[in-house]
Amino acid sequence: MSLSVLLNGANGRMGKAIQSIAEEHACKIKYPIDVGDNPNEGIKNCDVVIDFSLRDGTLQIAELAQSFEKPIVIGTTGHTKDERKLIEEISNNVPMVWAGNFSTGVNLLFFLTQQVAKVLGPESDFDPEIVEMHHRFKKDAPSGTADRLLEIILQSRNSSEQEISHGRQGIPGERKPNEVGSHALRGGDIVGEHTVLFAGMGERIELTHRATDRIIFAIGALKAANWVVSKQPGLYSMQDVLGLTA
Ligand code: NAD
Repeated sequence: MSLSVLLNGANGRMGKAIQSIAEEHACKIKYPIDVGDNPNEGIKNCDVVIDFSLRDGTLQIAELAQSFEKPIVIGTTGHTKDERKLIEEISNNVPMVWAGNFSTGVNLLFFLTQQVAKVLGPESDFDPEIVEMHHRFKKDAPSGTADRLLEIILQSRNSSEQEISHGRQGIPGERKPNEVGSHALRGGDIVGEHTVLFAGMGERIELTHRATDRIIFAIGALKAANWVVSKQPGLYSMQDVLGLTA
């Protein structure tokens, strides 16, 4: 049996991608809504809410999901820390999967980076650097995915954001032992590439993910919708959905 889904942001690029494959993933987008639509009938009758709108759309739909005790999957990004906190508090009352990247491959990259960073810590003499590439239209840098990779490496080293070196120019001097490099390349139509490099003396390890189609995010969000409907209230990540917790 298909899940009955309320999809917020249905007219956007991700909204359309989700609608194009929903039925292959046991979901029926019964209530596709966007700016100006009334969510009341859908929120009462749906099994699960999926939000791929914009920053301003998430809190309102999450509050409605809370009022009607509906599980929610959030893919929208770009919220401030305060907005994020308000939205995350709703997960005390309903199950919520919130992921800045729903691709299976990227979540595996997070997991592998955690594992490698544990082994190749500061005492190992391997230097971590992140290189990401995106299309020429992308407005922010580094990407949210690169930010998460940086966070994983810093956590494993008990380091702070001050150790991040964004790009290098001029005469920055020799690389400091605690530095974590971050480099953003922009051009053409690149969907998204992330490489985590651990460079040692005489050898290096590179973990790379290349996205070639946005449909991977839609597939991940629909997987999360099927997963979250049987969960207790709480805040879950895509790594939880995929069983990739360290
Ligand atoms: P988009 O601009 O193409 O679509 C956004 C849609 O949301 C539009 O149709 C817009 O009218 C609608 N919208 C805006 N405000 C709304 C509101 N208050 N209520 C209801 N609908 C509203 O954007 P997109 O490329 O589809 O991406 C949507 C969001 O998903 C962005 O935040 C983007 O960064 C994020 N995203 C996340 C992932 C992931 O894997 N988590 C992947 C791709 C994009």
